[in-house]
Amino acid sequence: MPVSGACLCGAVRFEAAVPPRRVTHCHCEMCRKATGAAVATFATFESSKVRWSCDPARYDSSDRGWRGYCPKCGSSLCFGYKPRPERIYIAIGIFDNPGEFPAGFHDNRGSKIDWLHVDDHLPDVPQG
Ligand SMILES: [Zn+2]
Ligand SMILES: [Zn+2]
Repeated sequence: MPVSGACLCGAVRFEAAVPPRRVTHCHCEMCRKATGAAVATFATFESSKVRWSCDPARYDSSDRGWRGYCPKCGSSLCFGYKPRPERIYIAIGIFDNPGEFPAGFHDNRGSKIDWLHVDDHLPDVPQG
C-alpha cells in the first residue's frame, strides 16, 4: 500500500512504497514549537524508502536534530535525527490518508500538556 502526502500548498509531496515502521505522538517542547500543534505526531520511515517531489527546506533545530518544511508555504513536514540519518520522521498531518495509520506510542510524555488527552492508553515508545 503506497503512502503519500503533501504540504498545504502542494509544492512538496512525498511517497513511500511501504507503510511507516511506527507512528508516535511526541510531546516535547521542540516538536510543539516546530509544528505549532499541541502534540506532534510523526511516522517513522527508512529514509531510503521515501521519495520527495522536491527536497524540503531544512534548518537545524538542535545539535542533533533538523526540521524540514515547505519553502513556499512553510508547512512543517518532517524531522531528522542526525545520529540516525537512515530514518526520517514525517508529520502525520501531511499524509493524504492519515486515518489509515493510527499512532502506537507516546514519546516525552513527561512534557505533555495537562489538558491534552489523546490515545492515553498507548505505551511509551521503546528506546533505541
Ligand atoms: Zn507548501
Ligand atoms: Zn519531540
